[in-house]
Amino acid sequence: MADNKPKKPHAIVIPYPLQGHVIPTVNLALKLASQGFTITFINSESIHHQTSKAQAKTGVELFAKVRESGLDIRYTTVSDGLPVGFDRSLNHDQFMASLLHVFSAHIEEVVAQIVASGEDVHCLIADTFFVWPSKIAKKFGLVYVSFWTEPALVFTLYYHLDLLRLNGHFAREDCRKDTIDYIPGVKGIEQKDTTSYIQETDTTSICHQIIFSCFNDAKNADFVLCNTVQELEPETISALQAKIPYYAIGPIFPNDFSKTVVATSLWSESQCTQWLDKKPHGSVLYVSFGSYAHVTKTDLAQIANGLSLSKVSFVMVLRPDVVSSDDTEPLPVGFQEEVADRAIIVPWCRQKEVLAHPAIGGFLTHCGWNSILESIWCQVPFLCFPLYTDQFTNRKLVVDDWKIGINLTNRKVITKEEVSDNINRLMCGESRDEFRNRIKEVKKILENAVSPTGSSEKNKVQFIKDLKAKIEKIAQAKCSKCNGHA
Ligand code: UDP
Repeated sequence: MADNKPKKPHAIVIPYPLQGHVIPTVNLALKLASQGFTITFINSESIHHQTSKAQAKTGVELFAKVRESGLDIRYTTVSDGLPVGFDRSLNHDQFMASLLHVFSAHIEEVVAQIVASGEDVHCLIADTFFVWPSKIAKKFGLVYVSFWTEPALVFTLYYHLDLLRLNGHFAREDCRKDTIDYIPGVKGIEQKDTTSYIQETDTTSICHQIIFSCFNDAKNADFVLCNTVQELEPETISALQAKIPYYAIGPIFPNDFSKTVVATSLWSESQCTQWLDKKPHGSVLYVSFGSYAHVTKTDLAQIANGLSLSKVSFVMVLRPDVVSSDDTEPLPVGFQEEVADRAIIVPWCRQKEVLAHPAIGGFLTHCGWNSILESIWCQVPFLCFPLYTDQFTNRKLVVDDWKIGINLTNRKVITKEEVSDNINRLMCGESRDEFRNRIKEVKKILENAVSPTGSSEKNKVQFIKDLKAKIEKIAQAKCSKCNGHA
């Protein structure tokens, strides 16, 4: 009798082509490869091109080095439907429309080629935001594993959009503004703390179409992996587990930040360590708005003037497109000269290295989920300035639930005075010590979760066991079908 037991699971892994999704997906691929998986990582040509350019190397692919160390990670690229050099930041809707309508055709072609080559492929691991994985997985007889790179709270809000709609908290002009208290596993959440897409009244945008469609697709996933920690969101995760096989396996990054071997940055990284080495412990504020969100020029001016007023030293990441890629000089005139003796402003940095530096004492952040996990890991408390998508919900977790940070502003309009006051609240005095003590406790939760007996480690082991059982079941079904036909 033929041995249909897969010796080694082979997973096709596909990241959403955005920086904040590529980073955790690469880490997931590494984690699974080190557990004996064969991985075929399919990157978009555009991300491939940008990461290569950032390292000033062409022709080198992401995993070349780790492959030398024995991990079985193969790599290929695929078009997202747009020319490689197309400005996706400036043309966000067109980019998203291409991901919604065109990307799957290219993916399907590559998956078909891999399968046709005779490779024994077993599962498709793809970002939850894709609208097509369950269909492609089904077509090629693969197990579909959906990978969610944001907190479980955000997942469950999208998962229950129908409930939000039914109760009048979503998709109407006169949305209810009272507390949302009927989502399973969520005690109560205000509408202002849901994601930007849930708060918007016009729900006809491309991103809304993506969200509606991808969560319909995710309901067909065989397994969902989430880059969070069970103990951080226990009720939400338990409620989800009652509906779908949901595994919290975060934080997904390597425990030791200095051991990052795969270069994933889309922009070249400026060195900040030497400058930070000269600063006292905990004295420097790190300021970054992540890889994709835009800040208005007016808000940026108030933040810059607030930083100037606060007298605190800072490292500021100012992406070339932070306001817009057609506004390359977004800072107020004279600001850089004013703060030159206590600040460095760079287009992009090695964020994990900066956060891990002892001189860093606070993080003015847009509240991207990777940034939050990385900063907790380094015990750096937050000054929160959410801009869009999940960042409003992430802010609620950080400020209201875990109490490891404060809001940059509590008003509709940001002023430099409030910015400066809050920077000092975070960085100086008694309040500073309170945040630092509390974040130590939250860090411990993360650390325990990834220890050999911790929840994320156990969930990962359980996921691999369940996945292998599913793969075997499919193989046996195929085998008995063949035998039946013989
Ligand atoms: N990042 C970085 N250098 C920078 C700014 C950001 O390496 O100068 C990384 C950061 O460490 C994080 C990712 O980019 O892993 C941003 O992801 P996040 O979820 O925080 O925000 P997004 O960019 O998705 O909005």
